Amino acid sequence: MMALSIIMGETTTTRLPALPSSAHTKHNARSSHRCGDTVEQNLPPTVVSVPYLTYHRYHYCDRRDRAPRLMRPVDTVLPEPRIILKDTYKNMIKQKFASTVHIRCENDVDAKIEQLVLGGPDKLQIVSDFDRTITTSEHNNKQTMSSFSVFEASDSLSEDYKEKARTLLQKYRPIEDNTQMTVAQKLPFIEEWWHQSELLLKGLCFRYEDINKSIEKADLHLREGSTEVFNKLFSKKIPIIVLSAGIGDVVELILKHENLFTDNVSVVSNFLKMSKDSNGLSTIEGFKGKKLIHVFNKNEHAYIDTHQNDTHLSGRSNVILLGDSLGDANMDGGIEYDIVLRIGFLNADLMEHEDGYLQQYKLAFDIVLVQDQTMGLLNYLLDEIIGVKSMLSNKR
Ligand SMILES: [Mg+2]
Repeated sequence: MMALSIIMGETTTTRLPALPSSAHTKHNARSSHRCGDTVEQNLPPTVVSVPYLTYHRYHYCDRRDRAPRLMRPVDTVLPEPRIILKDTYKNMIKQKFASTVHIRCENDVDAKIEQLVLGGPDKLQIVSDFDRTITTSEHNNKQTMSSFSVFEASDSLSEDYKEKARTLLQKYRPIEDNTQMTVAQKLPFIEEWWHQSELLLKGLCFRYEDINKSIEKADLHLREGSTEVFNKLFSKKIPIIVLSAGIGDVVELILKHENLFTDNVSVVSNFLKMSKDSNGLSTIEGFKGKKLIHVFNKNEHAYIDTHQNDTHLSGRSNVILLGDSLGDANMDGGIEYDIVLRIGFLNADLMEHEDGYLQQYKLAFDIVLVQDQTMGLLNYLLDEIIGVKSMLSNKR
């Protein structure tokens, strides 16, 4: 018996068994089929989920050199067709990232990912924080540098400036991280911090090329899998907006240093305004933008404000958002999108900081990755989103 091929919703074929040569010569005219021919059977277009499927199989009989004839149908039990039922996304994620993943509402996450996959790469955009989101929060059990601290390590900045900047950090950072304060309560302090920081920078003599030297020396690492993420996004022309409350010049130079600053990448941040004197020395005049971007106002409105004629985001109503601070969860800025999947990295330093952080992160983000220093989840999601769409377009 030859195997019966079973294809969902399509006509299937059965190759008939070969007959002895004598049978060919006495081919029965009544039979519409010849031995070895392929006959078509229209099987039901659906596959039912029973343990075994029973199909009527017609088979031929060769008796004493007589021509084959169609016998009555007999029931033949065939093995169940091999159907791979795809597991739910939430289960796949829980299996793949078991040690680090926390999901707020599993059914919500499943539905969002399904929509992202259905929308495919053409509807997708990525909105991401930079420090400790694209970069790691630690390396070899040591806290890594932020883009701001890379800037502060520049050789041409004075010790006096660095000391004053550290004092500001020690004063305001605990307020930013305070879980007992609302965003509205923190906001005036954070704005004050940025205003003070800008005042501190104004008038400083600075060599721009020092930033590159600082990057080369810095203890700064991209999350494992970041390069793959950027390559996938570039290959499918998926925009990624990097929102940073740090110094945009440094963020851009770090991405350039890693060969990741491609056409689909936009950095929205605070960029230094410099002037050169007659001796060729640069002086920092402050930041270029009228509005400073800090952790509680960095959102896509800032992108739209600065890219008014840009069509990069047209039709891209599906968003994957990544961040490591609670404020990052709102980086979509309240803009109406079809889907926003929020992924939060809860880094080790925050875990040690205070109780209750995980619950707050779970309220802010759809998926929380605790002490995960990789881009494994985003790579998995991109594979699903890019892969399925490619399969569909190949079928057309
Ligand atoms: Mg961050």
